[in-house]
Amino acid sequence: MKVYRCFYLLAPIYLSLPSVHPAETHWSYRGNHGPTHWGEFGSNLCAEGTQQSPINVEMKQVRPLKGHDSDLKISYRVAPLDLVNNGHTIQANVMGGGTVSFKGNEYRLMQFHFHTPSEHQINHRSYPMEMHWVNQDQEGHLLVLGVMLKEGEKNQALSQFWRQLPVHQGTEIALDPAAAPDLGTLLPAASHHLFYKGSLTTPPCTEDVQWVLFEQPIELSKAQIHKFRQLFPENHRPPQRVNEREVDED
Ligand SMILES: [Zn+2]
Repeated sequence: MKVYRCFYLLAPIYLSLPSVHPAETHWSYRGNHGPTHWGEFGSNLCAEGTQQSPINVEMKQVRPLKGHDSDLKISYRVAPLDLVNNGHTIQANVMGGGTVSFKGNEYRLMQFHFHTPSEHQINHRSYPMEMHWVNQDQEGHLLVLGVMLKEGEKNQALSQFWRQLPVHQGTEIALDPAAAPDLGTLLPAASHHLFYKGSLTTPPCTEDVQWVLFEQPIELSKAQIHKFRQLFPENHRPPQRVNEREVDED
């Protein structure tokens, strides 16, 4: 009787799973499950949202950020990192990596990850890679920092990290704490920033995400870029319509 009742209760839950989480499991960057089809997996915003990311930023249409100074303050530091190959990118989950404050809100760094080529473009120029730093405030609002990566010198701060990239999907590696970079040093030293309201660049394409793009790129060597592309040859969403949105600069 007990067994029977359990089955009766659980069956509908199992049956409903595929329709609850389709976006998590079925999307990709190519073919029938690629970006132009994301709206078909129950993520309507991916197809019909009006504040989607990434975008191409036309610099001549950018306006100065209102107020006296930029309200942006980034305080990142050394922290333990768990590197995950989630099948879409390499993501570093961060605990206690620091905060970003912007317009009176404080956001905690949750994770950072990589795309190739870059998702955002500036005057239609794309970069070999882009790094996204995902930060969340206490109410769950997201602020994402976007940093462009160009080909140049070997990135020493990332070299230990790069040596331990998890090759197989679903694997997670705790980075040796002695090898963990000071996250603050991974950001461009001096840079103007571009601010706009957008979305997640992966399903479910949730909107109301505050984007902060660094105009100044950081460098990665050709070999470092190649190593990432051996795992993920192409994992970017193309630019979306800007519509009525304004992009501000500090
Ligand atoms: Zn991203």
